[in-house]
Amino acid sequence: MTLKYKILSGLLGLMLLLIALIIYILQPSGKVQDFQPWLYQPAATAPAGYTVKFFGVSTLLFDDGQQQLLIDGFFSRPSLSQLMFGQINSQPIVIEHAIELHQLQRTQAILVTHSHYDHALDVPLLGQLLPQAKIIGSRSTLNIARGAHLPESQLQQLVPLQPMQIGNFTVTAFPSQHTPPTAVNNDLGEEIQQPLSLPARFSEFKEGHSFDYLIEYEGHKSLVKASTGFIPEQLKQLQVDHLFLGIAQLSRQPEQYQQQYLAETLQHLKPKVLIPIHWDDFFQPPEQPLQFLPHLADNTPKSLNTVIKAAAQQQTQVLLLDQPYAYPLMTATDVAR
Ligand SMILES: [Zn+2]
Repeated sequence: MTLKYKILSGLLGLMLLLIALIIYILQPSGKVQDFQPWLYQPAATAPAGYTVKFFGVSTLLFDDGQQQLLIDGFFSRPSLSQLMFGQINSQPIVIEHAIELHQLQRTQAILVTHSHYDHALDVPLLGQLLPQAKIIGSRSTLNIARGAHLPESQLQQLVPLQPMQIGNFTVTAFPSQHTPPTAVNNDLGEEIQQPLSLPARFSEFKEGHSFDYLIEYEGHKSLVKASTGFIPEQLKQLQVDHLFLGIAQLSRQPEQYQQQYLAETLQHLKPKVLIPIHWDDFFQPPEQPLQFLPHLADNTPKSLNTVIKAAAQQQTQVLLLDQPYAYPLMTATDVAR
């Protein structure tokens, strides 16, 4: 064997190893089906009353049968290659289908947790197609909406800690913290200063500060915390019925951070039910069951198990929603009571 041949075959081996590694890190970090005991099984008929649907990341639709509130606006789910090599945009066909299927004409407001694209990408198009829906968020979020020339009368900059009456719902925004940054989203606190028109590079969607939302309806309280971050003692005065808890990259944080995160959220808020959010691979296309984040981003089974263990210690039930089923927060009888 000549030296040249040895070097060539060595290089080839190295390349194959690299390809195998790339394939591995892009695979889901586990199977949703392995969490069957926690997976929500919908009833044969859609529940009446006050319900919520989960669309992945932290897009949630609260619905009392008459009016709706949408938290975040992310349905289009561009692929990783679109994200890396081009500009991203809403897919009109996906948005039009979502509007029809979920009767989003009843949406009173779209409340945005922060301005990264996986929370805000579809806000401009949703705003155009749903002119009755107020867009509520940070200055950065409103600049994303302004990129599509939405009228100022449709836009509302949120005022933290001040309850807003939105139709049948009362909503309060709490200042929050984003998940600790990584190399690709190290823009926390940076703002979108000008109207941002689409298509745009994903990196143009600056975080622009993060917020949690408390949603009150007929005495029922839900808290949506999209990101795996917290401001110490911010939620201390609160207790809620349902907690929608962001768990992205929880397993990647130091043990002490994980424990403090759960203490500041789950243990303070004492929810009856905890619904994990921001655990899905948002590079996967829309309109199919959600999959766990890839190894590259998180060890989702590990993050989930940490949450399940902490919830069990205080009799909080954990429920995993992997499709936009209507999950009942309150039954019709509860609402009528
Ligand atoms: Zn983000």
